[in-house]
Amino acid sequence: MKNIVVLGSTGSIGKNTLEVARNLKDKFRVIGLSSNSRWELLAEQIEEFKPTCVALNDRQLAEKLKRRFTDNNLKILTGNNCLEEIVSNQEVDVVVLAVVGAVGLPAAIETVQQGKILALANKESLVMAGHIVMPLAKKNQILPVDSEHSAIFQSLQSGKPGEIKRVIITASGGPFYDYPSDKLSDVTTEQALKHPTWQMGQKITIDSATLMNKALEIIEARWLFDLKVEQIDVVIHPQSIIHSMVEFCDGSVIAQMGMPDMKVPIQYALTFPDRNPLKVQPLNLSNIGSLTFKKPDMEKFPALRLGYQAAREGGTMGAILNAANEVAVQSFLDGKIRFTDIVLSVEKVINNHHFIKNPCMEDILTADAWARQETKKCLM
Ligand code: NAD
Ligand code: MG
Repeated sequence: MKNIVVLGSTGSIGKNTLEVARNLKDKFRVIGLSSNSRWELLAEQIEEFKPTCVALNDRQLAEKLKRRFTDNNLKILTGNNCLEEIVSNQEVDVVVLAVVGAVGLPAAIETVQQGKILALANKESLVMAGHIVMPLAKKNQILPVDSEHSAIFQSLQSGKPGEIKRVIITASGGPFYDYPSDKLSDVTTEQALKHPTWQMGQKITIDSATLMNKALEIIEARWLFDLKVEQIDVVIHPQSIIHSMVEFCDGSVIAQMGMPDMKVPIQYALTFPDRNPLKVQPLNLSNIGSLTFKKPDMEKFPALRLGYQAAREGGTMGAILNAANEVAVQSFLDGKIRFTDIVLSVEKVINNHHFIKNPCMEDILTADAWARQETKKCLM
């Protein structure tokens, strides 16, 4: 029996993780949950899973929760360090990090430092500080939840790290891949929030529409699998059936396939190296008919180019790219800027920034804060 904590349990990945846990009750006990503000859903989850500890960032809502759950066996945390606090509970074996954005980084570091398994959905933490997080982790201590990285990780089970020639990350292309370039600046938030193949949180859905999500995934793959940037290719695959591939030195390409369903990579991260039964829609290739592939268009989607640039240059570049993007995406969601301004502003901020090649944690946090300010200024 393993004790798991789900950080960001009220989000899309969080809810899918609880669905997986619900079906593997004999293997996992959910002992910690967290949410930013959705306290009512969190309360339902507390009633069902009976964790010993929960975190709710919003202080006022945390008070509400305390009034509802007066049982002394439930610890209710709030405030700046509440995620790290939950992670440090001695009984925790596995942390599913499913919060969105830079806030995930301290909890990621705490988890690996304490030798616990990190099932990682929060790609932002590796984008910001992969050079700090990865050296702290032992082999297979960080298990990818991101579907592409899970696919690569699964494919890697048929070879050794030294035998990898390259990885091929697939991208659905998002809702605008075939949309006319000159009309992209006019797309609405509603249009951008309609992803063709995946149901996800708002931030990652916008990232998928700009292809910034793929940029973040290039950097994530670079750190997770210790790859050179030249070993990472991206291919547009609109059906989202092949979740990514690894080409080995003998020319064999191993792919992981299946209907798009995040429960598959979540469960694999939780049960690795074992596989367990899971109710998913079966893959019926003759119904699907054809799987298609296209070269990514970096002119139309400059985010990809920025992703490669940040992966190549390293240092503070990932933290800047991520922070600028978080601010710009929020601004777009708030209806304040155009769709195309998201990546334009990220590029401006990247180009203005004071680059540090080997940043320590403090440098990363300073870069993050600077990029947020600078992006706000640039969007005013
Ligand atoms: P979501 O918006 O649906 O959920 C985010 C969760 O994080 C919520 O529980 C929310 O309460 C919590 N949260 C938000 N802000 C917070 C803060 N400041 N402090 C603490 N908690 C906070 O997002 P999601 O789609 O579930 O994505 C979560 C992470 O997983 C992201 O990093 C995303 O890139 C990654 N991811 C998601 C998918 C997917 O299919 N949804 C796939 C791959 C990777
Ligand atoms: Mg992904």
